[in-house]
Amino acid sequence: MRVYERAGEEMRSTIRYCNYCKIYTMKEKCRICGKETIIKKPPKFSPQDRYGKYRRYLKKMERGLI
Ligand SMILES: [Zn+2]
Repeated sequence: MRVYERAGEEMRSTIRYCNYCKIYTMKEKCRICGKETIIKKPPKFSPQDRYGKYRRYLKKMERGLI
Protein backbone atom coordinates (compact mmCIF):
# COMPACT_ATOMS: atom_id res chain seq x y z
CA MET A 1 0.00 0.00 0.00
CA ARG A 2 1.58 3.18 -1.19
CA VAL A 3 -0.25 5.29 1.36
CA TYR A 4 1.32 3.50 4.30
CA GLU A 5 4.82 3.66 2.86
CA ARG A 6 4.54 7.37 2.32
CA ALA A 7 3.16 7.97 5.79
CA GLY A 8 6.06 6.07 7.29
CA GLU A 9 8.60 8.11 5.40
CA GLU A 10 7.12 11.38 6.45
CA MET A 11 6.83 10.37 10.05
CA ARG A 12 10.49 9.57 10.29
CA SER A 13 11.69 12.68 8.61
CA THR A 14 9.75 15.86 9.03
CA ILE A 15 7.38 17.91 11.01
CA ARG A 16 5.24 19.99 8.71
CA TYR A 17 3.07 22.97 9.33
CA CYS A 18 0.02 24.51 7.74
CA ASN A 19 0.34 28.28 7.60
CA TYR A 20 -3.36 28.65 6.99
CA CYS A 21 -4.69 26.57 9.86
CA LYS A 22 -1.68 27.04 12.16
CA ILE A 23 -1.37 23.38 12.88
CA TYR A 24 1.41 20.85 12.77
CA THR A 25 1.08 17.75 10.67
CA MET A 26 3.14 15.00 9.14
CA LYS A 27 1.38 15.23 5.80
CA GLU A 28 2.35 17.15 2.70
CA LYS A 29 -1.19 18.39 2.46
CA CYS A 30 -3.12 19.84 5.35
CA ARG A 31 -5.83 17.52 6.56
CA ILE A 32 -8.11 20.46 7.26
CA CYS A 33 -7.77 22.88 4.34
CA GLY A 34 -5.97 20.62 1.86
CA LYS A 35 -3.29 23.19 1.09
CA GLU A 36 0.35 22.24 0.89
CA THR A 37 2.16 22.31 4.20
CA ILE A 38 5.64 23.64 4.78
CA ILE A 39 8.52 22.00 6.59
CA LYS A 40 8.75 23.66 9.92
CA LYS A 41 12.10 23.72 11.62
CA PRO A 42 12.32 25.66 14.89
CA PRO A 43 9.03 27.02 16.15
CA LYS A 44 9.47 29.75 18.70
CA PHE A 45 5.96 29.89 19.98
CA SER A 46 4.90 26.29 20.41
CA PRO A 47 5.95 24.70 23.71
CA GLN A 48 4.67 21.43 22.34
CA ASP A 49 7.22 21.40 19.58
CA ARG A 50 10.18 22.45 21.67
CA TYR A 51 10.59 18.85 22.65
CA GLY A 52 10.92 17.92 19.03
CA LYS A 53 13.53 20.58 18.63
CA TYR A 54 15.52 19.24 21.54
CA ARG A 55 15.18 15.71 20.26
CA ARG A 56 16.58 16.73 16.90
CA TYR A 57 19.34 18.69 18.57
CA LEU A 58 20.32 15.73 20.71
CA LYS A 59 20.24 13.42 17.73
CA LYS A 60 22.64 15.68 15.89
CA MET A 61 24.95 15.82 18.88
CA GLU A 62 24.95 12.06 19.08
CA ARG A 63 26.01 11.86 15.49
CA GLY A 64 28.77 14.37 16.11
CA LEU A 65 27.33 17.08 13.92
CA ILE A 66 27.40 19.82 16.54
ZN1 LIG B 1 -4.61 23.92 6.61
